[in-house]
Amino acid sequence: MNYISTRNKKIKVTAAQAIIKGIAEDGGLFVPEVFPVIDKSFLQTLYTCSYQERAYKILSLYLTDYTEQEIKNCIANAYGNNKFDTSGIAPVIILKNNYQCLELWHGPTSAFKDMALQLLPQLMSTALKKTDEENNIIILVATSGDTGKAALEGFCDVPQVNIVVFYPDQGVSDIQRQQMITQKGDNVKVVAIKGNFDDAQSGVKNIFNDKTFACTLKKAGYQLSSANSINWGRLLPQIVYYFSAYADLVNNHSIQTGDKINFAVPTGNFGDILAGFYAKKMGLPINKLICASNSNNVLTEFLTTGSYDKNRQFFKTISPSMDILISSNLERLLFYLTENNDKQINEWMDSLNKTGHYDVGKQYRSKLQNLFFADWINETQTLEMIKKVYDKNNYVIDPHTAVAWQAAENYKKRTDDNKTPMVVLSTASPYKFNDSVLTALNVNIQGQNEFTLLKKLKKYNQQNIPAGLSALEHAVVKHTDICQPEEMADIIKKYLKI
Ligand SMILES: *Cc1c(COP(=O)(O)O)cnc(C)c1O
Repeated sequence: MNYISTRNKKIKVTAAQAIIKGIAEDGGLFVPEVFPVIDKSFLQTLYTCSYQERAYKILSLYLTDYTEQEIKNCIANAYGNNKFDTSGIAPVIILKNNYQCLELWHGPTSAFKDMALQLLPQLMSTALKKTDEENNIIILVATSGDTGKAALEGFCDVPQVNIVVFYPDQGVSDIQRQQMITQKGDNVKVVAIKGNFDDAQSGVKNIFNDKTFACTLKKAGYQLSSANSINWGRLLPQIVYYFSAYADLVNNHSIQTGDKINFAVPTGNFGDILAGFYAKKMGLPINKLICASNSNNVLTEFLTTGSYDKNRQFFKTISPSMDILISSNLERLLFYLTENNDKQINEWMDSLNKTGHYDVGKQYRSKLQNLFFADWINETQTLEMIKKVYDKNNYVIDPHTAVAWQAAENYKKRTDDNKTPMVVLSTASPYKFNDSVLTALNVNIQGQNEFTLLKKLKKYNQQNIPAGLSALEHAVVKHTDICQPEEMADIIKKYLKI
């Protein structure tokens, strides 16, 4: 199977090449040329499989240039060795009112990014070997919090790769900051940006598009790549857990093969929910994908009106990993909806670049409305939802998950679909956002540090405090650099001594 660029479908590469490059040279994103389609019997083979085996079955449909052994080794390195604190890797929890919660945060950094970022470095280092690539790879990451740490963990001391992470100085939680600035490894660099996530992301994109900079790097034996969800190797692992959740629902007798289910997804860069869309395209029986946003509701507006407008106030919220105004992966959805019309994609993306706005028109608007239900949730509602879910189920969720849960409730209220089982994607451990969660549970948190709060939350949460979080209390700070967005390229040069 080959991968083509959303901005020029004549650019065609293998999976290994797509994963090494991260982004196409024309600025487009790599997408599979065709989508593999599965049938009932394929689904049925998943039921008795472990998560790792399910992953193999899905991945092998897309990584046709990797050998069976290569894929299996990558999966074993990513999801084996007790890196996840549950053997189910991504377990489904049954709760009241036909809700099930897909817990995606059992990896080393306690957020769902681990699902992809444990696997991507494995896929990438295998790809480097396969293609006889001699350059060293520099992974550039712009993070709204969770990606940075998960990428640092995944790439830490991976041979032939360096990683540089930029995070918005005021835009991440204390725990997230602490996780990043204490990162170990000889191939890692962490830098704070004076700006918000979009400043960091635009900065990284500019560096990727800077041909002179690429030349300078190349002369020194380096090549850029990306661990953001624009990288195909990031997106692919996320398709797996939609299938895995479906198999778990069959196994827990909530559905039978062929029954449709809904997924509610807390959305930022549109990577997670796009993987759900791809699963649906492959033939997984999905009824609706519910796209949940916080006050940065650019996607709610887009999916309901067809008009994308990033010219709006930016809000810092208690679900910071969704504080995003430019959702990069939307480009892949649009490419599919326009039936691979790369010319049209160029026009829209140009317009987004120049004016911050584009409109897909009536024809595509109705397609979007059919596929997605979109809604946004404010801060008060988010806190109330955490409390409500706790009171009803004795189950603690984080603010991102709460946003998705409330959007799911709104979907049920506003449509006549009350029966379809609803799977809420739970994207972060509540311990990672303990101040907001405790506030929601009416616990006074005034003047107490993160680690006291962790222990306080344990009184409500039946699950243990993740080892990676409690270890932060005595971890040594290793990264203190801070810069303006325009200084990012210079920082990289200095780090690489070129
Ligand atoms: C990254 C993240 C999201 C958003 O996922 P996208 O793929 O960017 O849409 C939601 N919740 C948490 C906790 C995250 O870390």
